[in-house]
Amino acid sequence: MKDNHDHLVRAITKDRQIRILAARTTDLVEEARKLHKTSPLATAALGRTLTGALLVASLLKSGHEVSLSIDGSGPLGKIIAEANYKGEVRGYLKNPNANLPLKNGKIDVAGGVGQGELTVRKMLANGKPYEGSTKLISGEIGEDLTYYFTVSEQIPSSVGLGVLVDKDMSVKAAGGFLLQVMPDASEEDIDLLEANIANIGSLSRNIGAGKGPEEILELVMGDIYYRILEKTDVKYHCRCSEDRITALVKSLSSKEIESVLEEQGKVEIQCHFCNQTYSFDENEINDIMNEES
Ligand SMILES: [Zn+2]
Repeated sequence: MKDNHDHLVRAITKDRQIRILAARTTDLVEEARKLHKTSPLATAALGRTLTGALLVASLLKSGHEVSLSIDGSGPLGKIIAEANYKGEVRGYLKNPNANLPLKNGKIDVAGGVGQGELTVRKMLANGKPYEGSTKLISGEIGEDLTYYFTVSEQIPSSVGLGVLVDKDMSVKAAGGFLLQVMPDASEEDIDLLEANIANIGSLSRNIGAGKGPEEILELVMGDIYYRILEKTDVKYHCRCSEDRITALVKSLSSKEIESVLEEQGKVEIQCHFCNQTYSFDENEINDIMNEES
């Protein structure tokens, strides 16, 4: 039976020298598209970034979170995605309306992203942050993450990310895989992996044809024996709340707040990740500011 819902699988080889994750993210990328009203170009770039963040977050231990930031010179502007080990992801990009003509029949994600930097921030459960950056080598996002892992974390990796946008601009398919090779992996296995990845074709078309994460693993691993460790449902989820926004208001200077109140009679803060607006009138602001912290 086909398991056609968004989820992520994590697997490892018997010698523990190759770990691989694959995800189907079609529904959550479609949700992001509706939320941010993205152009096909922005849908593809944000969808790849959301999928990449979920894959990276799944490498971390429980309680940890990851944020991917793609800061390029292209028309899309900065792209942000945050994910956690529970399979929750949220994101946004600066210019959701930016679009470009197709390039060789494909959405020109590299052109939309441009040149710049990829930053991976990990918020570890003990409260310690970890941050690493590399330059964008192609703007395709999957290749940029591959380069990041290989150069910044010195783990030979391969990341494939894809989003297929339908004629009506909805998301037909989205997903990705992340493969990491440890130092004692056999040359034979590495050669097999390289050949399999070269033959896999378009990842988003495979997912569009009904292949789930388990079948993506099979395509990448081929004859290499592996064991699935975990399956996790993945979804678009914003964790903003009245409490978090109130804390944000509290961190603003009273001077800033006074000038906004004077101009608008209220303070409105919109969450970038889900577009929900939180509104505070003068009385509410006074209560917040006079509260003991
Ligand atoms: Zn939100």
